[in-house]
Amino acid sequence: MNILILGSGGREHALAWAVQQNPKCDRLIVAPGNAGIAQLAECASLDILDGAAVVTFCEENAIDFVIVGPEAPLAAGVADATRAAGILTFGPSAEAARLEASKAFTKEICDACAAPTAAYARFTEAAPAKDYIRAQGAPIVVKADGLAAGKGVIVAMTEAEALDAIDDMFGGEFGAAGAEVVIEEFMQGEEASFFILTDGVSALPIGTAQDHKRVGDGDTGPNTGGMGAYSPAPVLTDALAQQAMDEIVLPTIREMSRRGTPYQGVLYAGLMIENGRSRLVEYNCRFGDPECQVLMMRLGAQALDLLQACAEGRLGEMRANWADDHAVTVVMAARGYPGAYVKGTEIKGLDALPEDSRNMVFHAGTAAKDGAILATGGRVLNVTARGDSLAEAQARAYAMVDAIDWPEGFCRRDIGWRAL
Ligand code: ATP
Repeated sequence: MNILILGSGGREHALAWAVQQNPKCDRLIVAPGNAGIAQLAECASLDILDGAAVVTFCEENAIDFVIVGPEAPLAAGVADATRAAGILTFGPSAEAARLEASKAFTKEICDACAAPTAAYARFTEAAPAKDYIRAQGAPIVVKADGLAAGKGVIVAMTEAEALDAIDDMFGGEFGAAGAEVVIEEFMQGEEASFFILTDGVSALPIGTAQDHKRVGDGDTGPNTGGMGAYSPAPVLTDALAQQAMDEIVLPTIREMSRRGTPYQGVLYAGLMIENGRSRLVEYNCRFGDPECQVLMMRLGAQALDLLQACAEGRLGEMRANWADDHAVTVVMAARGYPGAYVKGTEIKGLDALPEDSRNMVFHAGTAAKDGAILATGGRVLNVTARGDSLAEAQARAYAMVDAIDWPEGFCRRDIGWRAL
């Protein structure tokens, strides 16, 4: 089978690592890929937001199966284009990807299927939005409706902050994504991520995880794209996972199918857990980055069988085989991130690290130049390890971190702390 993965982050490196271990995989191309991915697959330059270009590339390279990593190509309809061309594709249609691309749409679906989530109201003008905030009081959450790279959500602890957020959003800070605003009840509790594969009919949970959004130890400092993750997340007990399936995930899948826009791909449910019950915070229509790294480390080669069955509508026959193990990924970022950071610094010591089914460094913002690996982005490496316990996985991951010679990089030292 010839496989094309779209994307260039740690998530896609982890997907490529798992997929290429499966004997079914004959040829693997990742577009555009990165320096780490280039060590295990071919990388190709391709405009992954251009459905027609992706279809042409697939035809020229006899691609049998396309796996879409990030949300932007999904929202742009790339999976629709490849499927219309008869190419097996993992990832939802643009219509179904609205579960991530529009927060107002997700709320509409929750209403239609009575899925528990925060109370909310939608606005397209500032004055009534402000009246609503004054009436509700703080804390309160203000969200730009559309995709804003994780920055379009303001958890306002004061009324003044919430009112400012309204001015920013309707003032155009998030462009078209902020033309509509969703204002939500502030939910207390602990967050966890729940990942479910679905072919539109059957649903298969493929793991839980918790990420670490803040840049500093103890969850302090500004928000980032994610500084690390671990799986499983013990806060999401079997009973809670079942409740989330019964009350949130399965009703959503049925509602999407009922509307004639079945969801096919991975559904990533961000949950808030409080008093033994979970409520939906948000859906994402792709794997999380860095959560994908810990899930792939735990699933290994069977990931390809599962993604393929999902795309072929045969998920009902599948089950995930889990070892009773744990995985941790520690993100190494360039000093200064998530603010301004220096690019082009050299990372040494990667060659000496073990790379096997228990230890792997997934690359994000890297490039190879004259035999050296250079840091080219904010989040640069995902140092990932598996262990029989979370403590063992964590110790293994930090042992690798400590063996990496990159003075211009940094990481959090407490990934996994909530569960330890
Ligand atoms: P990302 O995809 O980066 O997680 P996003 O822009 O899609 O972010 P959300 O996940 O909806 O936005 O919100 C971002 C974060 O804000 C959540 O992970 C959660 O910590 C917080 N948050 C969102 N909604 C609420 C809420 N109603 N109550 C409390 N916290 C919330």
